Amino acid sequence: MAANKKLLVLPGDGIGPEVMRETRRVIEWMARRRSLAFEIEEGLVGGSAIEAEGAPISDATVARAKAADAVLFGSVGGPKWDGLPFEQRPELGILRLRKDLGLFANLRPAVVLDPLAEASSLKPDIVRGVDIMVVRESTGGVYFGEPRGVETLADGKRRGFDTDVYHEDEIARVARIAFDLARKRRNKVTSVEKANVMQSGRLWRAVVGEVHKAEYPDVQLENMYADNCAMQLCSRPAQFDVILGSNLFGDVLSDLAAALTGSLGMLPSATLGAVDPVTGKRHALYEPIHGSAPDIAGKGIANPCAQMLSFAMLLRWSFGFEDEAALVEQAVEKVLAGGLRTADIMQPGMARVGTSVMGEAVVRELDKLAG
Ligand code: NAD
Repeated sequence: MAANKKLLVLPGDGIGPEVMRETRRVIEWMARRRSLAFEIEEGLVGGSAIEAEGAPISDATVARAKAADAVLFGSVGGPKWDGLPFEQRPELGILRLRKDLGLFANLRPAVVLDPLAEASSLKPDIVRGVDIMVVRESTGGVYFGEPRGVETLADGKRRGFDTDVYHEDEIARVARIAFDLARKRRNKVTSVEKANVMQSGRLWRAVVGEVHKAEYPDVQLENMYADNCAMQLCSRPAQFDVILGSNLFGDVLSDLAAALTGSLGMLPSATLGAVDPVTGKRHALYEPIHGSAPDIAGKGIANPCAQMLSFAMLLRWSFGFEDEAALVEQAVEKVLAGGLRTADIMQPGMARVGTSVMGEAVVRELDKLAG
């Protein structure tokens, strides 16, 4: 039993509040049945924060996020705010949180649940049993490197440029997260880069190798070019355990890995910061990988599983509640095995249900699993 773990819940826009409502039932179940005492605050982010507070995230909400043990995030954005200038867009809410909380390691599991193996775009035989964790560096690399811009040359033609830049400490800290994770899984890290054509890729390979040799010689390390990794993910995905990549390659490869599993509505993620040497605490944010799905928002048909599974990741990575995390994961899998499907994962012969029926079913399954 743990006392007063502080959670900041930010449902956001579109389907965010709908899937968060179901996840709150799971949180309440944990309080009731497993005595997990969470102190929960709720706040605004994204378009809803723009409307009510004049910014995609207020300073007060960022301060509450910093004070919390973990942030559970929904999704932000929608057509209503698409016309706003870049610095006022809903997405800045999440970008600011990542930056201010120093969240540098994005963890995206791609697990093919047995009942959904048929929903993958690949043959069930190829994807069955796939259980990959993509660790993506998320505060550096080409998405943030300077110089960047679009300039107009003397001849009037435009030239766009970005800089893929990594300091060795940035590579080492995210590599440690990948190696630590691998030790709790199947003990293998595949580190991806383009060391054949990129200088930052050469450094990436060298630093990952040094961290491995000095601190994690027991973990199997494989280096792979990012393009080869993309190909292998489509042909032999079961070979992978933890895939480690830069912001750019991690982004692309985690989407590819996600596609193997069949649905955006099923996929959670975590983004972790460094452990504070004084408090021993680590900032962390958990969110589904899907967006606010404006096309289905308000219809009560969104799949709440990715948000619930994000909460399972929170239980595991922020609090070490491994048994409780596994309970949530098993409950979701059992509901699927029992034949319930939201529209996004509907298959022939299954029963189509909405968001709240899916949520109720997961809670019922938790009751059964807990006996
Ligand atoms: P999206 O993930 O919102 O939706 C893509 C498709 O998947 C849609 O057809 C949607 O209906 C479906 N889908 C997504 N989640 C689902 C769920 N839980 N259940 C059932 N179906 C689901 O991506 P998009 O359409 O490219 O973006 C919509 C908005 O979300 C944009 O404003 C975008 O900027 C924003 N976005 C936010 C985040 C975030 O908050 N981290 C991430 C991605 C996109």
